[in-house]
Amino acid sequence: MVSSVTRQWISIPSELIGSIPRTSELLEARIRYESDLITIEDLHKIEKKAVEQTVIELDQLTGSMVLTDGEQTKPSFLTYPIYDLVFERYTFDEQCFQIKFTDGHVRTLPRLIKAPFKYATYAYKYLEVAKRLTNKPVKQAVITASALSMVYAPHLLNSGHIDNYSHEEFLKDLTDECERDIRLCLEYGAHVVQLDFTEARLSLKVDPSGRLLKDFIAINNRVLDRFNANEQKKIGVHVCPGGDLDCCHSSDIDYTLMLPDLFQLNLTNFYLQLSSEKNRIKVLKCIQKHMKPNHRIFVGVIDPINPTIESAEMIRDQILEAAQFIPVEQLGTTDDCGFSPFADDISTSKELCYEKIKARIQGTKMAEQILNTQ
Ligand SMILES: [Zn+2]
Repeated sequence: MVSSVTRQWISIPSELIGSIPRTSELLEARIRYESDLITIEDLHKIEKKAVEQTVIELDQLTGSMVLTDGEQTKPSFLTYPIYDLVFERYTFDEQCFQIKFTDGHVRTLPRLIKAPFKYATYAYKYLEVAKRLTNKPVKQAVITASALSMVYAPHLLNSGHIDNYSHEEFLKDLTDECERDIRLCLEYGAHVVQLDFTEARLSLKVDPSGRLLKDFIAINNRVLDRFNANEQKKIGVHVCPGGDLDCCHSSDIDYTLMLPDLFQLNLTNFYLQLSSEKNRIKVLKCIQKHMKPNHRIFVGVIDPINPTIESAEMIRDQILEAAQFIPVEQLGTTDDCGFSPFADDISTSKELCYEKIKARIQGTKMAEQILNTQ
């Protein structure tokens, strides 16, 4: 007898990480504003135009069903909450936490010298602007508590204590602020709130024992545990070996040493760099072993650092490969990283980004068709 039960179509969601290169007009305007050549109102006008243009282009040129604001007005994925307080409460010196990239360039996280720790900017501010421009779902990336924990880590960085401000007090303030950052995005209707956790793999370079990674997971879970199971369904995490000015900071670190700890995070959506990984099968086997039944795994199928545009067929094949290890109901696709996590990174053109995203959307549809009909 032929079964009368029709199998339900399983969609494979596809989302970008967040950032798109800023327009040259915006980058110039920011330099002119910092040199007192234009007013803050002038800068805001140009920022508004850049966000509008990016949201429309992402919608119309790429076919994306979930959008972002392209992080056009974020100074960087890392420092946006504290950027406006840097001169008031922070210093840059040799005791600061530094991210060293393979080509030798360095990004420095400022060091807190005046308590208490607090945010100047919450990410819902970006989300609110983008949501006014589209009816499609908008996701919002936020920085992890673990990354910002490095602004005051006297025990790790051999840097000075702040009088009457213990590390535990700092961690409490940090947890409160990160929770607020995520909660406000959820309240403002984010499709998903994605924690950018690029320091996960990097931590194994700083501390090969894995202790720092475990500390990072614990700090982030301290924030995540304040959300209920329904809220955690709308929270995700992105990991990668770093991507800035066309190079990485930790691709030489074995990914599979980090993934088991990553899956201990109390959230649902995992946006995992994979396309640029040398041994994808090894990583997929590790994901298969450690993922949980409530997880959604968005595998990276686009390498933002590689200037070659992936073909939809290449992407389709990568998804079919991933589907051998991840149940299709739990599968999604993404890019390996944002296209411009730091505002001044213009190593990739916007046009190239859009072509790559378009290929991801098309390749994902092709794989979805095959996986639903085979
Ligand atoms: Zn990344």
